[in-house]
Amino acid sequence: MHLSMQGATPQTLATLGTSEAEIRAVCTRVVDPEAARDLVVLLYLRAGVGWSAGCHTDYVTAQDVHNGTVKNLPKQPFRLIRIAMGTENPYPFKGHDAYGWRWAFGTFEDHLAQVVAHESYHLTRPAGPEEGANAFALQRVQDLDFDVEGVPDGR
Ligand SMILES: [Zn+2]
Repeated sequence: MHLSMQGATPQTLATLGTSEAEIRAVCTRVVDPEAARDLVVLLYLRAGVGWSAGCHTDYVTAQDVHNGTVKNLPKQPFRLIRIAMGTENPYPFKGHDAYGWRWAFGTFEDHLAQVVAHESYHLTRPAGPEEGANAFALQRVQDLDFDVEGVPDGR
């Protein structure tokens, strides 16, 4: 797995109470080795509240990512998870996702773990439903002792 970060200034990392090394450790712990094969995680830390993410299960190249302007991406084709995290999320943080689940995250790292786990589900199960991805991710991060609660609220 290769991790690339955008917007991870020392000040932003300090505000979120994390570090590049801790972010890397979260990704490594959460993604199982099969899903981590040929994987690039592109993490954007952006002003605002909330989060979004997406997964490219088809292989892409460095040239496909921001017209090849992201430095140090692998030379070989890779699969890609993109994650945008708001730098103003107030942790402990509660929020809804796009699929009608209510979530509670203790820290930024707990939140990131959930999002990474969700997207990694799609890598090994490209046709898997969002409900399945959320349920898988919740189990995965709770098994790893991350402070995450999630429940489908039926909307
Ligand atoms: Zn999903």
